[in-house]
Amino acid sequence: MITFYFHGNLADLLPRNFRTQKCIRTTFKRRASVKDFVESYGVPHPEIDKITISCREVDFHYLVKENDILHIHPISPETNFFTPSLLRRDPLKSLRFVVDVNVAKITGKLRMLGFDTYCDSSLDDARLAAISSCRRRILLTRDRNLLKRNVVEFGHLIRSRHPKKQLAEVFHLFNLQKKLQPFSRCLHCNGLLSPVAKKKIEHLLEPLTLKYYDDFQNCRSCGKIYWQGSHRQKMAEELDYYLNFRSEGEENG
Ligand SMILES: [Zn+2]
Repeated sequence: MITFYFHGNLADLLPRNFRTQKCIRTTFKRRASVKDFVESYGVPHPEIDKITISCREVDFHYLVKENDILHIHPISPETNFFTPSLLRRDPLKSLRFVVDVNVAKITGKLRMLGFDTYCDSSLDDARLAAISSCRRRILLTRDRNLLKRNVVEFGHLIRSRHPKKQLAEVFHLFNLQKKLQPFSRCLHCNGLLSPVAKKKIEHLLEPLTLKYYDDFQNCRSCGKIYWQGSHRQKMAEELDYYLNFRSEGEENG
C-alpha cells in the first residue's frame, strides 16, 4: 500500500471523493515517479512546494515504493521563490508572469500594479509553457494539463472564475504587496512608463484632458499616454480589496 497526504489547499484539487479525507491510498502496481502519481490525482506539480517521506525531502523524480507514506505540501504565501529548493534548484530572480488566455483579464490588473506580465492570445500551450520555462515567468492559468507539462517550473492554477478574485489569489499567494509599483507599466503592451512634459504631447490630448490634467506619463514601447484620471481611484479601491483578501478555495473544476 502507498499513502499520499495532501496538505493545505492541494486537497481541493483531488477528485471529489478524496477532498475531505485529504489522503489517497493505493496498492502498488507499477513503478512511477511521485510527479506521475500526484498529477494523475489532479495536482499539477507547480502547485507543490515540498514532498517528504518520513521527514526526508524527495524531488519529483523519486520512484515511489511499496509502503511509502508521502506528504505533499503546497506552494503557499510562505514559499520563498528566490532561494534554491530541492524541487526548484534554479530560483526566480524576480516576479514576472505569463498569463494564459483563459485568465487574460488579470493581465491589465497585474501591469497596473507594476508587474511584468506577458500575454499573447495567439500562443498555443507548448509555446506558453516554453515561455514560462525559458524566460523564467510564473505561468498563470486555469488549465491543469498545461501546468502538468514537464518544462513548467513556476505556475499557479487559478481557482476562481472572477477576474478580481483571480488577481486576489495571485496577490496573496505571491505576496505582491511587497513589490508593488503601481502605474509604472503600460496596460496595453507591458512597456515601462516615463514622465513626459505636457507641452510635448498636448497636440495629442482631448480638450478636457488638456484643461484639467498636468502630469502625464507615456509608454516607452508603444507611446500610449497616461494621466491621473478616474481609473487611478478605481484601482486604489481594488488594491484595498486585494490587500484584505482571504482565499476561499472556491470553484475547482
Ligand atoms: Zn505600451
